[in-house]
Amino acid sequence: MRFLPKIIISPDISQFVYAVVVIILIPSLLAFNTLFLLHSVQRDTDYELNNKALLTESAVALYLQDKIASNSAAILQPALNGLVKDMPDIKAIEVFKVNQDDLTPLTTTSPTTKSVTDPILNKLAWSSDNAYSKQIMAEVGSGSPERIWLVASPVKDKQGKKVGLVDLYLSAAEIDAISNRTTHDSLIILVGTMVVTLLLLLNHFRFFEISILFKKLNEIDKLKDDFISMASHELKSPITVIKSYASVLTENPAIAADQEANRYLSIIYQSSERLRTLVDDILDVSRIEQKRLTFKMADYDLRSIINEVVAEYLPQAQSKGLKLTYTIDAIPLVISCDKDKAHQIFSNLVSNAVKYTPSGEISIYHQIKDGKVRTFVKDTGVGISKENREKLFSKFYRIYNDKTQDVPGTGLGLWITKQLVEKMNGQISVDSIENQGSQFVVEFPSKSAKTLEPQTTPPVAKPPRA
Ligand code: ADP
Repeated sequence: MRFLPKIIISPDISQFVYAVVVIILIPSLLAFNTLFLLHSVQRDTDYELNNKALLTESAVALYLQDKIASNSAAILQPALNGLVKDMPDIKAIEVFKVNQDDLTPLTTTSPTTKSVTDPILNKLAWSSDNAYSKQIMAEVGSGSPERIWLVASPVKDKQGKKVGLVDLYLSAAEIDAISNRTTHDSLIILVGTMVVTLLLLLNHFRFFEISILFKKLNEIDKLKDDFISMASHELKSPITVIKSYASVLTENPAIAADQEANRYLSIIYQSSERLRTLVDDILDVSRIEQKRLTFKMADYDLRSIINEVVAEYLPQAQSKGLKLTYTIDAIPLVISCDKDKAHQIFSNLVSNAVKYTPSGEISIYHQIKDGKVRTFVKDTGVGISKENREKLFSKFYRIYNDKTQDVPGTGLGLWITKQLVEKMNGQISVDSIENQGSQFVVEFPSKSAKTLEPQTTPPVAKPPRA
């Protein structure tokens, strides 16, 4: 007796670590991506703003060149005011004149604007002859501090002599408002995306669990199959022993004379026969499901296979008073099949026809069409309703009604039959009218597909296969 290994369903630690890493990593990457993008946009905007400030400054310095050279605040003031009015980004313009190598304020655009001039920046611009800029946070008049680009640039007269210095206060408030809005929106989108991603990940890990369970279930299923296969094999030998001893006892003259003992023996024999059928069916199901079934395909004449089957079931049909006919075709019906499996297919169908036909007849015949040979197994039995026909080829499906409940069976025969037919490139179908009869059709590709003249030959009765 083999012992079955124990299945332990334990959480997979590597899967768990993977899950945690993914849950941390993906939202972190999303956050990093958004913050990095925002930072890049801010840096590029600042760069452009600086350029804009320097450009504005040089335009303003050029415009004010003559007016500064005049050294008169009265001439300069209206020009400065006009500039600030026309360009709202410019918060203020301060003009310095040269006074014994010193820069002293000449005028400013607005008396309310607080001066945030930077003497070092001014000196740098003055001594290097270049415009210099810097970014500051300052309250230049509006009340709240804002980002200002402070640009200092020397102004030259037409002869190229430095005559003064201009400080320009260029506000970044408008751009900052836009970039604050963008940052705010991006952060909202980031949080939303992170929440959705987390939910998706959590859902994904539920699938993870399902896949682990599915794997375990498959293992359990395989164990079940192995167990069934092993148990069925183990059951086969005692059943054969019971059956053979029952046969031996029936032949014993002392027992043959005892009616009651005979009846008991017959019950033992029939019950062990039913048990054998069940075990055989279960073994077949397990072989099919585990794909352990092998097919020895070769060319066979279907007529001889069916003749054998009919001969086997003729005694049973006759004992029920049923007429069993096989309309045999004149020329060979060669199909490619495994002979034993083909025999099993038609045995199942003919045996069912005999089992489920209380009176009347069972006829078997062929039809050749489109290179295929169809075999009809037709009976005048209890029939099958439409709803039952739809589930007929399912595993363990049996129809229970007052006409079928006493008929022994496993509900596996038709499932096995369908699997065998399909694995040998065939098809099976059923047609039936309740209380009138059923017709099963098995179709195989034929190697001798010609239109044939049917001729009825009475089959020779043979004992059923052991
Ligand atoms: P079983 O071992 O019960 O016969 P099958 O898979 O061979 O299992 O058949 C499934 C069910 O289909 C049977 O229980 C029976 O009710 C129905 N059936 C099969 N063949 C016929 C038939 N020729 N006529 C009427 N009913 C049938």
